[in-house]
Amino acid sequence: MFRSNTCGELRIQDKGRNVQLAGWVQTIRKYGAITFVDLRDRYGITQLLFGEKVNTQLETTPLGREFVLQVNGEVIERSNKNPQLATGEIEVDVQSFTILNRAAVPPFTIQDDTDGGDDLRMKYRFLDLRRSSVRRNLELRYAVNRAARTYLHEQQFMDIETPFLIKSTPEGARDFVVPSRMNPGQFYALPQSPQTFKQLLMVSGYDRYYQIVKCFRDEDLRADRQPEFTQIDCEMAFVEQEDILTMFEGMIRFIFKEVKQLDYTDPIARLSWEEAMWTYGNDKPDIRFAMPLLNIKKPDTVFSDRADHRALIEGANFKVFDEAETVLALAIPGAAAYTRKQTDELTEWVQRPQIGMKGLAHIKYLEDGTCKSSIDKFYTPEQLLQLAKAAHAQPGDLIVVLAGKEERTRKAMSELRLEMGERLGLRKPDEFKLCWVLDFPLFEYDEESNRWVARHHPFTSPKPDQIETMINNNPVITDAANYLSHPYAGIKANAYDMVLNGNEIGGGSIRIYQRTLQEKMFAALGMDKEEQQHKFGFLLGAFEYGAPPHGGIAFGFDRLCAILGGSESIRDFIAFPKNNAGRDVMLDAPASIDEHQFEELQIRLNLKKE
Ligand code: ASP
Repeated sequence: MFRSNTCGELRIQDKGRNVQLAGWVQTIRKYGAITFVDLRDRYGITQLLFGEKVNTQLETTPLGREFVLQVNGEVIERSNKNPQLATGEIEVDVQSFTILNRAAVPPFTIQDDTDGGDDLRMKYRFLDLRRSSVRRNLELRYAVNRAARTYLHEQQFMDIETPFLIKSTPEGARDFVVPSRMNPGQFYALPQSPQTFKQLLMVSGYDRYYQIVKCFRDEDLRADRQPEFTQIDCEMAFVEQEDILTMFEGMIRFIFKEVKQLDYTDPIARLSWEEAMWTYGNDKPDIRFAMPLLNIKKPDTVFSDRADHRALIEGANFKVFDEAETVLALAIPGAAAYTRKQTDELTEWVQRPQIGMKGLAHIKYLEDGTCKSSIDKFYTPEQLLQLAKAAHAQPGDLIVVLAGKEERTRKAMSELRLEMGERLGLRKPDEFKLCWVLDFPLFEYDEESNRWVARHHPFTSPKPDQIETMINNNPVITDAANYLSHPYAGIKANAYDMVLNGNEIGGGSIRIYQRTLQEKMFAALGMDKEEQQHKFGFLLGAFEYGAPPHGGIAFGFDRLCAILGGSESIRDFIAFPKNNAGRDVMLDAPASIDEHQFEELQIRLNLKKE
């Protein structure tokens, strides 16, 4: 037996017991004839006391950091207790010890505030994983995994594995491909998600499916993406949108309770996509704080209960606003006291290339109820005051206004809102706010190819009352300049995203389950019959053999863990992640393969010269 206890287990009640511990040497402190060693394992740290008898042996067999050590000794009460440590009241008086393995000096210190940089820690990830902060992340990940499984199991979901070597499943990214030796010249694709399989399982009658599963997408890795990542992937048959929302609100509440001991009893807000875009400038709004945008230019066709604010800026001959497609205002609480330097800084902030705006107008809504503004040459004090009020400002607030092309302006204002929320401390890391975003457009217009692309994926159904519009109209866009007037532009998807603190943590849809509608969808995306048959013949075929109505959702498991763990980075929650260039720096992968492997695959490389 190597050990009777773990290094996190012993307490004052164990005083007097003879125990065996095994673990890694964290620190060594010599005090004359005695030595203290902190011994670490997954469960914690226990202080070892090497008294005079064993201490002399340390001179001939010295210990080093990260040595693997086994000790036999007696639990004694510490004279110098450490309340920070669960085992801090005791130590083990070592009677004998064995060095189970020696260790080279680690390239960085294995403790929470390590001196190792990112790259070094990635290269020696097996050492980084010994640090308790990283271990806690993996423990949290496991807790989320267990909670999801428990919930889904109790709801009659079945975990069914689906293959990794498949044919393409379009989810909007490039496929990773795997050459087949037995079928020379042919390739498998790694699944971007198990989408078509889970739908086929519905056709097969397994009406509640889930899997915590790896997905592979060969994307350019924007910040904090991984080429392989994990989803909680789910599908249900005989359901409508409401059934899915209810089921997965239940799951997320259960996860909060199990993992964070948090009773999330608030109702989960539901916003339409239009509402999210116009109120927050974003389809994954952070609703931990309000700060809604005011859309001054556009008559509010979306929200009949909201006023038309165009009159506020019309007729003043201020070209910037008059000529802009969109003018948006945002009230920043308590910022009317900003100095010139501070308002200039905000202007520079929106002018950075990532945001790309030309300028920023502002109105200070002063405590005395009057307004001071960078545009008071054009607008009367009364107009400015009305504008401030329309933007939901209170005296003491600063109202900022951006003007320009719709999409860019909306995005810029959304970024500015998030930035100000951050600066004002309104995005509290320990506060969790969920919402659903619903009714996304089914299609997006792709200018380059002058056709539609699926906003979610091609298996997403339109809203039930818009199926007819889709079936009865020709998807071809004859007038590119007026694509917005094409009937397809207004079709809404029967899709939903779950958003947590401004991050999309889950997304899914009610699916198409009739062959004709699915064919129409493929056609709208520019696929002719032959291509449809080649790529999705199996699915279209399956729809002819009794496909039930069905729908599902997938949660980004890594991201969910990161948010629950209070971190920005999913990498911290993955045992062996890739870096931003998609490389595993520990394995040094991807790498070239042996010549004979190419021969077996009958593949010859023809790399482009840089
Ligand atoms: N397969 C989709 C995705 O990976 C989720 C879904 O529609 O269930 O985003």
